[in-house]
Amino acid sequence: MIKSITDFDVAGKRVLTRVDFNVPQNDDGSIADDTRIRESLPTIQSIVERGGIAVLMSHLGRPKGKVNEKYSLKPVAEHLKALVDGMQDNSNNAVHFPLETAVHFVPECIGENARAVIAQAKPGEIVLLENLRFHAEEEANDEGFAKELAHNGDVYCNDAFGTAHRAHASTAGVAALFEERCAGLLMQKELEYLGGALKTPKQPLIAIMGGSKISGKIDVIRRLFDICETILVGGGMMFTFYKAMDMNIGSSVLEADKVDLARDLIAEAKSRNVALVLPSDVVVARAFDNEAEHKTVGVGDIEDGWMGLDIGPKTIATYSDVIGRAGTVVWNGPMGVFEMPSFAAGTEAIAKAMAEATQHGAVTIVGGGDSASAIVQFGYHDKITHVSTGGGASLEFLEGKTLPGVEALNVDA
Ligand code: AMP
Repeated sequence: MIKSITDFDVAGKRVLTRVDFNVPQNDDGSIADDTRIRESLPTIQSIVERGGIAVLMSHLGRPKGKVNEKYSLKPVAEHLKALVDGMQDNSNNAVHFPLETAVHFVPECIGENARAVIAQAKPGEIVLLENLRFHAEEEANDEGFAKELAHNGDVYCNDAFGTAHRAHASTAGVAALFEERCAGLLMQKELEYLGGALKTPKQPLIAIMGGSKISGKIDVIRRLFDICETILVGGGMMFTFYKAMDMNIGSSVLEADKVDLARDLIAEAKSRNVALVLPSDVVVARAFDNEAEHKTVGVGDIEDGWMGLDIGPKTIATYSDVIGRAGTVVWNGPMGVFEMPSFAAGTEAIAKAMAEATQHGAVTIVGGGDSASAIVQFGYHDKITHVSTGGGASLEFLEGKTLPGVEALNVDA
């Protein structure tokens, strides 16, 4: 059983909370997208409004086990402070904080200085520790480092779903050292929606798979064969499927070593009565460039010298129709090179179809990573049942794998 932060009386206690503050930054260090910080606020609020001390820890970027100011969480602490200041004592907002909720930053995550700052913090205050990955021991799940981290709290809470697929000291090692361990509200939401999609989906369950490559998604596709009625395929991965069907794909992206596997997947889908649907038309371009000459062609008409960079309007219509009739939709991976406006239409249309399906009562779930960024970019973020904050973690969870950071929270284990 996994307990929730709301199961504990946290008054006067230090709640050591693993958050995912691995946010994209601008060149000047300011935060380019604060979604991940905002997503953790309900858990932080739950701790501080009940008189707990929220001791937050996170990683940022890949400093590779060394102190590197470029990856300091200090600007994140400043951003968090600004967010919390802007939400003080406004009980009308879903998320709000008591007046003058202090946010302290410690330039270390373990050791005496960190412990001293935490000891001085008053109930209802927030302390953010420095980047965990300044220590190589974090990713090595080092026991001694986990013990050091454990000195910083009385209760352990994990709200970082995005790193739950990694057995690191702050996600796995440290949890085992706490009798009082639990999931934060965001982690709970992730497990509830992604878990629900697998166990008791509202039927029919439709999956949409895209992105540049099949590799990394093979196990998910296989798992989806167990539970889905239809899988809609888009993105660069479609061309490996088309190659497996001996079709000309021009200079489109191809994983030559996955062609046999794609052939197997097509056969497997057939034998298991799952509709594995491939696009009927594509937008092809002369080059991988937003300004390149481009046109829409049927999939059988891709000429040499052209590459497919998006799904075409006929495919959009078919896919939107299927999505409109779904009980549950799970989406992972963009339909095209959505970062370039010329090839964004397919991904945007799927995002829109998902939003409309949600309005008509479907449960819609977007796996993290690029599809989550696309949903935000096109402004449909609030119109989807659940947009996961974890890319790799949501894929592994959908594969049916046990995530070490989730398993470590289990109090029966
Ligand atoms: P992935 O990390 O495998 O989910 O792939 C995401 C990336 O796939 C995005 O950056 C898209 O730009 C890219 N992508 C989607 N469709 C295509 C395509 N047809 N050709 C090349 N890249 C694509």
